[in-house]
Amino acid sequence: MERHITLISTGGTIASRWQGTGYAADASGGDVLAGAAVPDGVVVDVVDLFNVNSSRLTSAQQLELLRAVGAALADPRVDGVVVTHGTDTLEESAFLLDLHHDDPRPVVFTGAQRPLGAVDGDGPGNVYDALQVAATVRDLGVLVVFDGLVHAARGTVKTQTVASHPFTDPSGDGALGRLGFGRVDLRARPERSAPLPLPAVRGPLPRVDVVMHHCDADPLFVETAVAAGARGLVLVATGAGNATPLMVDAIAAAVRAGVLVAVTTRVPAGPVSPIYTGGGAVDLVAAGAVLTGTLRAGQARIAVLAALLADVPHEERAELLRRLVLGTASGAAAPARVGVPA
Ligand code: ASP
Repeated sequence: MERHITLISTGGTIASRWQGTGYAADASGGDVLAGAAVPDGVVVDVVDLFNVNSSRLTSAQQLELLRAVGAALADPRVDGVVVTHGTDTLEESAFLLDLHHDDPRPVVFTGAQRPLGAVDGDGPGNVYDALQVAATVRDLGVLVVFDGLVHAARGTVKTQTVASHPFTDPSGDGALGRLGFGRVDLRARPERSAPLPLPAVRGPLPRVDVVMHHCDADPLFVETAVAAGARGLVLVATGAGNATPLMVDAIAAAVRAGVLVAVTTRVPAGPVSPIYTGGGAVDLVAAGAVLTGTLRAGQARIAVLAALLADVPHEERAELLRRLVLGTASGAAAPARVGVPA
């Protein structure tokens, strides 16, 4: 039976070529697909949405991608979607889509660490694997397929700048599954929060800023974000979510001004937790900030953005944010072997 996959191309290294001084995305989705093998029985339609390296992506473009995936899945003949994307901000786009994804058909993000046409390129293999996963799995939400592994969108971050295995969840217990010998082997199911309705965006998007704490950190940057019109703020704290009494005062003032504040950590793995006072997470929570569990800064910012875009009264946003950052604990599934020989 044929499986129909829509491949949405957004740029990234997988679509990048030498520009004389450095690499930049300039190839179409058709060019990206042309270099890859396609699994047997899979028919691919290409949509060229953007052609940018992902450090340049805007939240407005991420919402456009969300709508483009919705448009692709409006066609009942489509069995799944693959998004080719730069790895720099892939974790943000994938999480935004996962928070809103309400369809059994999968959305699979992939990309490359080496450019289009490189002799040792990883793009073709990643595209093949992503197409195979998109044609095979159901009810897993939005996934990241890279270097032979299948990751959940939630919690997965780029942890290697140039190595061929850039993605992992440093707080998790490994990938959801792996590919090999023409099969997709899954050992767990992702944790997902109840999907949000598609946001009805009117006017400019809310500004959401990120401020990092460090020795000598100045609360001025929190105050400046609020003065610049931030409606959301992510504090990247130290340790399990700690800062200083002065930083707590600035966060309390931001919350009083109506800003939705989330607290994550600059530590690579583990949850933020209310353990310390004297400027710690205990005081940040008392000031009205929401701890983001194991989500790191990029995905914490996406959760804040999604909570701000949701159609709920302002006083319910912090509660919604708490729900979005934690996900629902669906637990690990029994090992599943869902692949078909290619
Ligand atoms: N800078 C590139 C991007 O995010 C990196 C990549 O695609 O791997 O677009």
